[in-house]
Amino acid sequence: MSDSPELRKAAEAIRKSRKLAAFTGAGISVESGIPPFRGSNGIWNRYDSSLLDIDCFLRSPARSWEAIKAMFTGFLATADRAPVAPNPAHRVLAKWEAEGRLAGVITQNIDGLHTTAGSRNVIEYHGHCRTMTCLDCGKTIPLTAESTAADVPRCACGGLLKPDFIFFGEGIPPKAARDAEELAATCDCMVLVGTSGAVYPAAALPPAAKRRGAAIVEINPEPTAYTERGVTDVFIAGKAGETFLALDRLLGAAGNGKDGE
Ligand code: NAD
Ligand code: ZN
Repeated sequence: MSDSPELRKAAEAIRKSRKLAAFTGAGISVESGIPPFRGSNGIWNRYDSSLLDIDCFLRSPARSWEAIKAMFTGFLATADRAPVAPNPAHRVLAKWEAEGRLAGVITQNIDGLHTTAGSRNVIEYHGHCRTMTCLDCGKTIPLTAESTAADVPRCACGGLLKPDFIFFGEGIPPKAARDAEELAATCDCMVLVGTSGAVYPAAALPPAAKRRGAAIVEINPEPTAYTERGVTDVFIAGKAGETFLALDRLLGAAGNGKDGE
């Protein structure tokens, strides 16, 4: 891992880049202890995915809230607690941004770990778990153990409160959609990390970047839709944490005036 030809090609593409973007999915948080949706340890083996469907939530909010709270208690951070910590992949991305090497991260994750790691330009394409919004009056309040203590958390106005991540059947938050499209259209290199490429419209962002001439570097233990459809230029078969540490070492060793190491 520490010096494969793919790793060196990826480091070269990153070093040469004038506007580098990262596009991350559930796989980047696996080494932090958050399971992905699919696979043997996947979330959908334990919870019925229809509970996170917006129509189901509106019809039977108590059932949906029960599953949401079980998921939070298990692994997802809210405004008042962080049961899991960022791993080296999140931390290296934050370091690259601080060094001026990375323009920003588009993440499909709702776990907030990029922000916890210190990344500043994070586009949370599917929203986050820090707050919830009243479906009647639009008021937004912190999502905490206390504010979600009731079986069905309600706003002071009596309206239903919904966490600020998107449910199945909802649209992408408009600002996140705009910012992500802009970054995908203007970056000259995009690093895809831990995403299967199965969830749309997010999955359309890497091909959009590629069409505008960006080099696509992909990090995943398994080949994905991007690898199979020829979107990926450089594929590193590996886990996110160890791969980012190895890339960061290679970039530091080469030196390029951006990192001052
Ligand atoms: P996915 O579950 O479809 O795919 C996860 C990918 O990560 C797979 O390709 C897998 O091979 C790869 N992977 C597994 N371990 C890895 C590791 N150690 N390093 C790098 N890659 C690894 O995930 P997706 O493409 O993000 O789509 C699922 C949807 O579910 C997204 O919308 C996402 O928001 C949501 N989700 C989020 C979280 C989270 O916030 N952490 C967790 C589960 C699902
Ligand atoms: Zn309200």
